[in-house]
Amino acid sequence: MSTHEVVLLLETDPHRGLSGEQAARRLERYGRNVLPAAGRGGLLRRVLRQFHHPLIYVLMAAAVITAVLDEYVDSMVIFGVVLINAAIGYVQESKAEAALDSLRSMVRTDARVLRDGQERMISSDELVPGDLIVLEAGDKVPADLRLVRLAELRVDESALTGESVPVTKDEAELPEVTDVADRRNMVYSGTLVTAGSGAGIAVATGAETELGQIHRLVGAAETLATPLTRKLARFSKVLTVAILILAAATFGVGVLRGQDASETFTAAIALAVGAIPEGLPAAVTITLAIGVTRMARRRAVVRRLPAIETLGSTTVICSDKTGTLTENQMTVRAVWTPDGEFTVTGSGYRPEGEICDGSGAPASEATSQALHWSLLAGAGCNDARLREENGEWILAGDPTEGAMLVVAGKGGIDRDRFDEERPRTATIPFSSERQYMATLHSEHDSGREVVLVKGSMERVMSMCRSEMGADGHRRPLDAEAVLCSAENLAGRGLRVLATAVRPAGESAGFGEEDLPGTLSLTGLQAMLDPPRSAAAPAVQACHAAGIGVKMITGDHATTATAIAAHLGVLSDDHEGRVLTGRDLEALPAERLPEAVDRAAVFARVSPEQKLRLVETLQQRGHVVAVTGDGVNDAPALRQADIGIAMARSGTEVAKEAADMVLTDDDFATIEAAVEEGRGVFDNLTKFIAWTLPTNLGEGLVVFVAIVLGTTLPLLPTQILWINMTTAVLLGLMLAFEPKEAGIMRRPPRDPRRPLLTGALVVRIVLVAALLVAGSWWLFQWEQARGAGVAEARTAALNLFVVVETFYLFSCRSLVHSAWHVGLFSNRWILAGVALQAVAQLVITYLPVMNSVFNTAPIGGGVWLRILAIAAAAAAVVAIDKRLRRHLM
Ligand code: ADP
Ligand code: MG
Repeated sequence: MSTHEVVLLLETDPHRGLSGEQAARRLERYGRNVLPAAGRGGLLRRVLRQFHHPLIYVLMAAAVITAVLDEYVDSMVIFGVVLINAAIGYVQESKAEAALDSLRSMVRTDARVLRDGQERMISSDELVPGDLIVLEAGDKVPADLRLVRLAELRVDESALTGESVPVTKDEAELPEVTDVADRRNMVYSGTLVTAGSGAGIAVATGAETELGQIHRLVGAAETLATPLTRKLARFSKVLTVAILILAAATFGVGVLRGQDASETFTAAIALAVGAIPEGLPAAVTITLAIGVTRMARRRAVVRRLPAIETLGSTTVICSDKTGTLTENQMTVRAVWTPDGEFTVTGSGYRPEGEICDGSGAPASEATSQALHWSLLAGAGCNDARLREENGEWILAGDPTEGAMLVVAGKGGIDRDRFDEERPRTATIPFSSERQYMATLHSEHDSGREVVLVKGSMERVMSMCRSEMGADGHRRPLDAEAVLCSAENLAGRGLRVLATAVRPAGESAGFGEEDLPGTLSLTGLQAMLDPPRSAAAPAVQACHAAGIGVKMITGDHATTATAIAAHLGVLSDDHEGRVLTGRDLEALPAERLPEAVDRAAVFARVSPEQKLRLVETLQQRGHVVAVTGDGVNDAPALRQADIGIAMARSGTEVAKEAADMVLTDDDFATIEAAVEEGRGVFDNLTKFIAWTLPTNLGEGLVVFVAIVLGTTLPLLPTQILWINMTTAVLLGLMLAFEPKEAGIMRRPPRDPRRPLLTGALVVRIVLVAALLVAGSWWLFQWEQARGAGVAEARTAALNLFVVVETFYLFSCRSLVHSAWHVGLFSNRWILAGVALQAVAQLVITYLPVMNSVFNTAPIGGGVWLRILAIAAAAAAVVAIDKRLRRHLM
């Protein structure tokens, strides 16, 4: 359709957009512009999935066969366990998913929309069909749009078509049958604007969009998998198969030997349920989900779960300067002109303050034409807007430009009047590569054209041949003096921008190649961007944690150095630690890696160089976290081990490419996320170290009994009881373990290091051996004392649980002793232990439970022996820990 037809059909206005009233009515009629909840399947599918585990199959088979063997109670118990297990799995999975889902809403996408002829930012889920939406480079397209206006619009449609080369758009009508990938007059929800700008009318929102359709087909659910969970899942699968084979062999050999079939079968089942670590993958996922939630609370939103694992191993953080290490609250403090420097008072975006000359007298247009033209360039060559709202001045746009607007206001220049007198007719926009912005204005009364330029001092100066004096006359540029002044200002940590003009009357074109040599430098504007108060301590914490911090900026080397020194990114020794983009180009390839590794500040760096820096650091074996906000930062963000985008100042393109998004843009949040990442990894290790000895111990106890042909010390249902109750009541509580005290004083984890170090494997085997020896001995002892088998088994069962409980306290820290951590510092654990105690009393003394689980009440003496054995085991573990503390 032609744009005209679309406008008619959707009853909208191609210039003013919908009215607020129309939009409200349509929102009611068509619903919110959100994708349907990701397809994780219906309730039934999700419930059924809980039964899709090898262990569950084994258990169900066991339950059926037990029923056939007339052991109805056992059969019911096993079925019961299967059901409870599925219920717990379901609840936990839903919780973990909900935690991840809620993250998505923390980083919301805003859309620029025209309503009632006014441009405003609204949340993208309030868009309706017919809305007129404005797009800029870096935006994510919020709905399916028919383009009505555009300028060099290029869109990355890989999310939809898989095609990674950006598509150039135009407005022309197309044949009715055109593939989605070829519909150049449309842009689609979820795709990314990589260049240019445009506007379009929403023709489909929410589930009706192309993306919504695909979503419905495949259900693009974010998985809960990370490299670690996958590795663990594989590990437990292999283990399961091995154990099943072993159990089957046991059964076969037993029957061949002529033992009772039902008894051998029970033994084989006991072996299988005991030795398979069924809870492991789920527990790991939950620990990760808790970690994600903790990070979100500290304003780091994880977009891809594997990032949590990588965070703990990060060895270098490459951070932007502006906005991340600094506040991005610019205030012009000084304006230098070729004929003298002026100071500016006042702070923030409130245009109240004065521009004073060297003697402290207020300056005006009459004082210096150069000053006046510098302010004009700052105000005219500017896309930012300031407005007052409830006595507060609010900036819409780039803070650098905001600061220049404010200083122009302090110098008596009114932006609106300027726009009337000299309307802008063309623009060369700012980009990090270009490092300047230029605008063409035509003077209202004479029609003559003026060019205004602002940008980095080096770039602007390279295009100037002359400079402007206080009287407005032009004279040859004194580059030496400009450089010297710029250096001086930058040395104070000020961000320096140069301004230049091409006065009316000069005839030359307005293209990038036409500007050099035609401009006249009017001055330098120096702005203060205060370092974030939390940044310096965070940098220090990173250094203590063995993590290098590097500042990457497009700003001037001297400014960057001053701020880096203030923040502690640079220590006293600056030698070779500041590199500019030009230095990087000049370095011979073989010296580059070392130089990059050593440097702490990279100034005047382009986005491609940023990508190269990341690659170089990775080649040096670093695990690199990188921040970025622009469209051009996306490749570096993707290349990084952890790409970090800024929620406030970053573009949607950067957020999309990132693994993690900081909702407060603050460097200190990265440090917090690293700390949480290390904590999560610790807790994972602790859980695994705690849970494996139980499985190993149970498996061995049963195995020994089978080999020796003696009575089983634990029945399958009893083993199920131990596994189910302790995993939920004891093990899971480790996920709530607070971070250990010295967590940011140890070096980053080597990603190649296995999860279970040699020392931990030894400890797991040790605890398993203690469990086997203790329960075996107790089981025999009780029988020798004349106790019945049920009573002896109850003793063994309780011993397992008590030893595990003691060991739980040991696992709360991988290196420190249980006392060191403080017995009462994790209330979850205490609550879990209390519940577990109640559970043990119930299974030991409640008659119903006795008959269901084949247990029997035991006397005080037995409890004393259990406690004594468990205490002895705990002592052995404590000694092992103490001996190995230095080896870990
Ligand atoms: P960073 O964000 O790391 O400070 P940028 O790439 O944004 O670096 O900016 C690089 C340089 O370009 C700045 O030092 C400044 O001189 C110049 N600059 C920044 N913003 C603008 C702008 N809006 N218009 C013109 N020049 C700018
Ligand atoms: Mg910037």
